[in-house]
Amino acid sequence: MSIDQPSVLLVEDEPAQREVLSYNLEADGFRVTTAENGEEALLLVDEAAPDIIVLDWMLPNVSGIEVCRQLKTRADTRNVPILMLSARSEEVDRVRGLETGADDYVVKPYSVIELMARVRALLRRSRPSAVGERLEYEDIVLDAETHRVTRSDKPLKLGPTEFRLLSTFMEKPGRVWSREQLLDRVWGRDIYVDTRTVDVHIGRLRKALCQHGGGDPLRTVRGAGYALG
Ligand code: CA
Repeated sequence: MSIDQPSVLLVEDEPAQREVLSYNLEADGFRVTTAENGEEALLLVDEAAPDIIVLDWMLPNVSGIEVCRQLKTRADTRNVPILMLSARSEEVDRVRGLETGADDYVVKPYSVIELMARVRALLRRSRPSAVGERLEYEDIVLDAETHRVTRSDKPLKLGPTEFRLLSTFMEKPGRVWSREQLLDRVWGRDIYVDTRTVDVHIGRLRKALCQHGGGDPLRTVRGAGYALG
């Protein structure tokens, strides 16, 4: 698997639909985490750290709307775009009316092509580097397409792991990433790497960022992890 894949949390209780969507999202380069119901989605969201959530409206027990409401009030998930799947167009009106914070919605039965286009559009917003764009933080500029990084217009030498770490931080400045989340995002969840490896590469990244002077923009958050700014 590719290490720098965008990730999606797919919440759908119908196995056949879950399978079709999962297949198509994976074929389109996503790392897919699936949840069969709302409770599971709320438990998995931390570990999955998704770039986007595809959420069915009609779920047993906790409805999609309630899951959406909860995710949009949690500080760590508030900014993750949510695409709601709705069985009837009247529900879409209610989605709008309830202002649950869903970012987009698709009415079932949907065309998979259209759904994928909507997912890509939301991803462009939540994770620009996954679609090859420029990220800026203060005097640091990262070009995801050319893999070049500059600080105060001076090019920085970065190893591939440090580059992926930096792009993760620059996508969400201020966000605190735990070592486990960084491992998952930068190294991939199928690879066994000791969490101390993260500290080693953070050290290298810090050194690289300061190779032409300038302050250390990375923050160590005791007991929690690392953040940019
Ligand atoms: Ca359903």
